[in-house]
Amino acid sequence: MIKAEICKYCGGDYLPKRRGAQKFCSNSCRSLNWKNNQHIKELKVPAVNSIDEKPVLAQKPSLHEKMSLAGIGNAAAGAAFVDMAKDFVTPYAHKPATKKDIDDLKVFLKSRYHIVKNMNRDIHGRPAYYDMITGNIIHM
Ligand SMILES: [Zn+2]
Repeated sequence: MIKAEICKYCGGDYLPKRRGAQKFCSNSCRSLNWKNNQHIKELKVPAVNSIDEKPVLAQKPSLHEKMSLAGIGNAAAGAAFVDMAKDFVTPYAHKPATKKDIDDLKVFLKSRYHIVKNMNRDIHGRPAYYDMITGNIIHM
């Protein structure tokens, strides 16, 4: 007696003509199952290729350059912001000397007498000066 088997494609019962050699109820199920497997294989092919193509994708400039350009832009903006921030937080003494600062310094060093602000005027009402040459405080 032939035992009913279950079709591997449609799941329906069928009576195989030859036990063990038949897995489907009909030729159409066998064919459809084969096509289905082919379809699965086709789906798998791009998946396998995508792994192979990953280095190629990485070498494509478009996305990578966009990212690096964005990175440069952000870095430049960041640097500009840091410079701005420096202006706010850098103490005056730590700022680099400008040409004007150096010129002012030259004038300052050329002048021999510099007024001393924290000394009282003398009895003649003359303000105190520091003499750069002698190193003395004088009133004049
Ligand atoms: Zn079937």
